[in-house]
Amino acid sequence: MKRTPLKSLQPFYVLKLRLMKAVLISGIIAIVGVWCVEFIKGHVNPIDRIAYPTMIAIFAICSVLLQLRPQVLGIVESLTISTYAAYCFIYLQGIIWGLPFVVIDLYTVASFLQWLPILYVSAFILLEIPNAIIASVLFYLSILCSCILFWITKSSANDISNKVSSTLTGVCFTHPIYIVLLFGIALLKQQLVQTNTHADNMTVVATTDYLTGITSRRFASQSLDHLLEVAKTENSYLTIFILDIDHFKCVNDNYGHDMGDRVLITLANFLRNNLRSSDILGRWGGEEFIAILPKTEAQTAIHLAERLRERNAELIHEKVGHVTFSIGIATARPEDTTDSLFKRADASLYQAKQNGRNRFEIAA
Ligand code: GH3
Ligand code: MG
Ligand code: MG
Repeated sequence: MKRTPLKSLQPFYVLKLRLMKAVLISGIIAIVGVWCVEFIKGHVNPIDRIAYPTMIAIFAICSVLLQLRPQVLGIVESLTISTYAAYCFIYLQGIIWGLPFVVIDLYTVASFLQWLPILYVSAFILLEIPNAIIASVLFYLSILCSCILFWITKSSANDISNKVSSTLTGVCFTHPIYIVLLFGIALLKQQLVQTNTHADNMTVVATTDYLTGITSRRFASQSLDHLLEVAKTENSYLTIFILDIDHFKCVNDNYGHDMGDRVLITLANFLRNNLRSSDILGRWGGEEFIAILPKTEAQTAIHLAERLRERNAELIHEKVGHVTFSIGIATARPEDTTDSLFKRADASLYQAKQNGRNRFEIAA
């Protein structure tokens, strides 16, 4: 029943770290796989004899770096994308200009083109949206400019050039669609993060008391329902305290509402620090608190109440001095509902007030 911490403080950071590691490992596996296949078929391009081991080495170094120093994630992302973009760009120049480090045939062109969109996908997954747009558009423009130069200079070219030209024309028209679609997905992702952040904030607002920072009545009430069910299922003890500050009206009347608020905050902190982390402490309203103590039997609860009373006697509130409280205690019975358990604790509290305050009473 503990509240989860804000998940959206570092949106996707852990996930991105894992994703980047997966991208690097799968990149290495893919390159090794393609290299092996091409080697067996005798189809390794001259450029790839250098590019494949270089990229494997860079990706491997990046993987080790991420393992040792996760904070270099941003650098690794940029390095990986830049390496891949540089490789694609040089390869494209080889195809377009018929440079000797690329053998221009159907396999080379087809296999190259199928790897190209990976750059856009990686950019939009790994980088922030503005950086992803810049990287994708720059890469696309480099392709487009190369193609335009190619069309201008190779207007009367041979058959293979014509085929490459038609294929590249297709690339120039289809790649903007990739970029727009990925941009759309990135926007949806951003919207999701914002919605999650908002939902997290709303959860905190709904479950926290605005003045004292402890659990709100709503959350304490839900916790009581849940923990009573757990106690019944596990056949374990559950005890609750209803705790009310004595003569708190006098504090307000004599020292002002602000000092009253400060007493409430100090006392909430005092109680929180004197309970176990598995206990739920909530502000039930005004100057009334509830403590829900799972796996706590009556005798233990009595000792705790006595200890709270003793330690509170040492607590001095600024200007106000000592403030006491009374506690009503009730331990759950098998037939109890939340309501009946609460009513018994409340009746005990009333009894404690009747019997002189600064004390506790336990329901029979
Ligand atoms: P008793 O010992 O019988 O409990 O007396 P009491 O004066 O504590 O009880 P009473 O119910 O008469 O007064 C409770 C006071 O708590 C009245 C109200 O103004 C004050 N109070 C409730 N909520 C807050 C708050 O958020 N801040 C401050 N400063 N006072 C509050
Ligand atoms: Mg009171
Ligand atoms: Mg009261």
